[in-house]
Amino acid sequence: MDFNRNIGPRRPFFFGPDQTQSSGSRTVNPPHIVIVGAGFGGLEAAKALARTPAAVTIIDRQNHHCFQPLLYQVATAALSPADIAWPVRSILSRQSNARVVMAEVSGIDLSARQVITNSMPPLPYDFLVLATGAMHSYFGHDEWAPFAPGLKRVEDATEIRRRLLIAFEKAEVAIDARERQDLLSFVIVGGGPTGIELAGAAAEIARYALVRDFRCIDPRASRIVLVEAGPRILPALPEALSAYAQSSLERMGVTVRTSTMVTACDEKGVVVATGERIPALTVIWAAGVKASPAAAWIKADCDRAGHIKVNPDLSIPDQPNVFAIGDTATVFWNERTVPGIAPAAKQMGRYVGQLVARRIAGRAEPRAFNYRHYGDLATIGRKSAVVSIGRLRLKGWIAWVFWSVAHIYFLIGARNRLSVAFDWLWDYLTFQRGARLIIQAPNSTAAVERRGGGHVIETASTPATSPVDLSRKREVKSRRIPRKREPL
Ligand SMILES: Cc1cc2nc3c(=O)[nH]c(=O)nc-3n(C[C@H](O)[C@H](O)[C@H](O)COP(=O)(O)OP(=O)(O)OC[C@H]3O[C@@H](n4cnc5c(N)ncnc54)[C@H](O)[C@@H]3O)c2cc1C
Repeated sequence: MDFNRNIGPRRPFFFGPDQTQSSGSRTVNPPHIVIVGAGFGGLEAAKALARTPAAVTIIDRQNHHCFQPLLYQVATAALSPADIAWPVRSILSRQSNARVVMAEVSGIDLSARQVITNSMPPLPYDFLVLATGAMHSYFGHDEWAPFAPGLKRVEDATEIRRRLLIAFEKAEVAIDARERQDLLSFVIVGGGPTGIELAGAAAEIARYALVRDFRCIDPRASRIVLVEAGPRILPALPEALSAYAQSSLERMGVTVRTSTMVTACDEKGVVVATGERIPALTVIWAAGVKASPAAAWIKADCDRAGHIKVNPDLSIPDQPNVFAIGDTATVFWNERTVPGIAPAAKQMGRYVGQLVARRIAGRAEPRAFNYRHYGDLATIGRKSAVVSIGRLRLKGWIAWVFWSVAHIYFLIGARNRLSVAFDWLWDYLTFQRGARLIIQAPNSTAAVERRGGGHVIETASTPATSPVDLSRKREVKSRRIPRKREPL
């Protein structure tokens, strides 16, 4: 279905008579497939429907698709937001049967087959794909969120970057030695891949990127503590690789605290189960995720983290035309559940897209969804990573090269691949971090970044209660002009 030809680019769609097209004497409605979420799963589902004679609407509250695996690089000033996010419209601009809508979905009316949004009339569907991903979980302590931001969206990354960089700026002008040390203390909660990537990158900033930039502080005196409740970091990887990751982090100056559960979090740091307080004015949350509220929208059976329990074909029980994929769903695989990673979401999206295409065409549907696990990768820092693929185990420099190539390969677009590869090479050679800009004013409501042909709209509000902001007496500006210009 070519929206531009059959419906016309300026007409409203699917809200009235315009949704139909004539076929001889009959009026035929093209099947309408609504995909909620333009993440890894949703985009893959949309692409799998490219040749299907149907109308595909993909709805997302953001105007961009975010490559979450590299968010930590934005949070630690190695990359700019536009390196890892692409406008959804431009990704699907060549797919003539797909239309992109920027809106926040707030509910689903299953009986009326309509998607409810915050900004337009209810949107009818024939097939619905829920691909709304996951969000941070503070294990019932949402009051910790202002003190310990999590990393999920581009605006989270720029907020964390702001807090990291402002901590050094404030330490430079702090008079009190104790305050200075607290400003230079960073706690990262959660020893999964995101936690170790953040800890390693924070250590690199302190040890290399900032080392010559300050006059009153030595950034190398920073204290970076990685706190993990379980007995080891990277629990999904073999023990030998976990041990390697821990010793690598320790060599970089990170204090790794395993079997240490955080029980409180405030503007002065965290408190752990023994009652010990770890002082730090910057805390980053990388400990838990829960599914988006999609299960509540459709009152579906879900697990404790809100993942929708789906049928083997990823449809919702009693709703054969409604599917949940990616981080929104829980799917069994080898007596475990499919991990919440990008390849799993992509495989599910592709599977559902193909299933719907076949159903519309009246062809035999594929067998139950079968997840294929390719492996686990995590980077620790410069020349240090761990890779576990089947029986292959890599660590150190070779794993780091493997990790880098794999991530560049999965980026969207040749321009981004080249740009990221160049930035990494430059940072590698110069020990610098190119995107060290503090661009969000505290309490700002919006910032816009533009780069190349696309544009990314950031719509976040910076939390007013950030620990750094609370004690803020005056605006501290960066003294140095960064080496690389941030795209504006
Ligand atoms: C920091 C971080 C690092 C990661 N690193 C890796 C890694 O190294 N390797 C790996 O394989 N995986 C990694 N992951 C996990 C991977 O990114 C996810 O598993 C994957 O993104 C899930 O895809 P998805 O399509 O289910 O959801 P997402 O990609 O999260 O997409 C969900 C989309 O739904 C939209 N949405 C949500 N709610 C609404 C609503 N109410 N209305 C409209 N739109 C909505 C969101 O804006 C988003 O675009 C990482 C995740 C994070 C957060």
